Amino acid sequence: MTLAYPPQPDRDSAPWWARAGRREFAVQECDSCGTLRFPPRAFCAACRREAWHWRRIAPEGTVESWIVNHQPFVPGRRDPYLVVMARLTAVPGCLVHGNWRAARPPKHLEPVVAVFTEVEAEVTLVDWTPADV
Ligand SMILES: [Zn+2]
Repeated sequence: MTLAYPPQPDRDSAPWWARAGRREFAVQECDSCGTLRFPPRAFCAACRREAWHWRRIAPEGTVESWIVNHQPFVPGRRDPYLVVMARLTAVPGCLVHGNWRAARPPKHLEPVVAVFTEVEAEVTLVDWTPADV
């Protein structure tokens, strides 16, 4: 089994990781029909065109769901940790998962904002925290 850590950027996701390193939150926008999308992929699911660019959006969403992960995927991290799936406010069809960065558990549909966590050189994760903190 290949572990997903550290992230292995590919042709489509490399710009996402580079932007995360610069603390920028962006999704792809189709040059043809304007559909915003995440996760990154080579073509638009709405019109099948391959031309796109990155568009910065507000790093805001609401908690859609979460899990407590007990599998130690991340080196040096053995304690269970909470992973949130956030629905983006600017793009309701997009869900972005990330570690939960608050002392209390999340609440369903509560507003959240993205935070950037540099875990090592060249690896910055997009995590989530309550918007009211
Ligand atoms: Zn399109």
